[in-house]
Amino acid sequence: MITPYHSGGILLSYKCNSRCRHCLYGCSSKWRKWLSVDDARKILEGIRCASGQMQHGIHLAGGEPFLDFPRLLAIQRIAVEHCVPVQYVETNAGWCVNESDTKQKFSLLKNAGLNAILISSSPFHAEYIPVKRVLTAVKAALEVFGPEGVLIWVPQFLQQFATLDSENTVPFEEYLDAFGIDTARHIISNGYSMIGGGRAGATIANFFHLSPPEHFFQHKCDDDLFRSGHAHFDPWGNLIPSFCSGISLGDARNLPHLMKNLDINRLPLVKMLAQDGLGELYNMACRDFDYDPEPDGYIDKCHLCVSIRKHIASRTTRFKELAPLEFYNQIHGEKWEAPDAVSSMALI
Ligand code: SF4
Repeated sequence: MITPYHSGGILLSYKCNSRCRHCLYGCSSKWRKWLSVDDARKILEGIRCASGQMQHGIHLAGGEPFLDFPRLLAIQRIAVEHCVPVQYVETNAGWCVNESDTKQKFSLLKNAGLNAILISSSPFHAEYIPVKRVLTAVKAALEVFGPEGVLIWVPQFLQQFATLDSENTVPFEEYLDAFGIDTARHIISNGYSMIGGGRAGATIANFFHLSPPEHFFQHKCDDDLFRSGHAHFDPWGNLIPSFCSGISLGDARNLPHLMKNLDINRLPLVKMLAQDGLGELYNMACRDFDYDPEPDGYIDKCHLCVSIRKHIASRTTRFKELAPLEFYNQIHGEKWEAPDAVSSMALI
């Protein structure tokens, strides 16, 4: 039995104009699938039936939801029809090349009942999106939604980038040169709510303090999987518990039925994570699938979890909770290595 949700996010697509190193959902331009308006209606009806009005509401996100603006607007309207409050729509502002177009799209959403926009700003986004576009989005959003309706995630990064080249993208290494690794590590580790699941483990693990797998063996994830009150819904209708990208509890297009009748015996990896813990998952993966631990260690328990799941997904398709399977193909990338002067220091 799953605890009713007080908040959640609807991923309209995993498709994105960027391919951020830290992306929890492995988004990129390679993805094709979008959530159909019909399926969005079913998910929103289910949310309404299963969780009432939702205390904190949902957010509409991606991928980059503005890549299909008519669909985003339609889903915003359906949420209002179903009395499910939309807390905000999330954007990376990559599409904000023109001030009047940006303002027009925000105004249409506002007229459809939206009260706030969340605009992403981070060293990872800045590798793909010039800060000028982020500033265009912020200006238009302030005019349309007012100061209360503009959430910048994270404002400290935007302040830093406003002092760099605003017309062009900024590679991560240039950002580190400009502000120093220690400052960057401090903000990213403490103010960004980084989760080591998704692409981060494969690309920027070495930026963080790493621990051996045994460090996480005692963790059981029953709260994250069933009782967090927070979930995400993807374009296939997958119910993704909390922030456990790549795990599906089932088809959220009939959410009340799924929440009431979830049979975890049919989801053996989920059952293992919830009841036995990560140590058991690790031992099973080594024993049955020849899993080799990451040589440098893991950022957090979710990095260990996703690393094991990715390996299992490459060996078998028999675990239907590993969904969408394409997620596991999309969470690779070039590995960041600390410059020599830094790599010999303890990373904290
Ligand atoms: S370790 Fe796995 S199951 Fe547990 S919270 Fe992280 S992603 Fe979810």
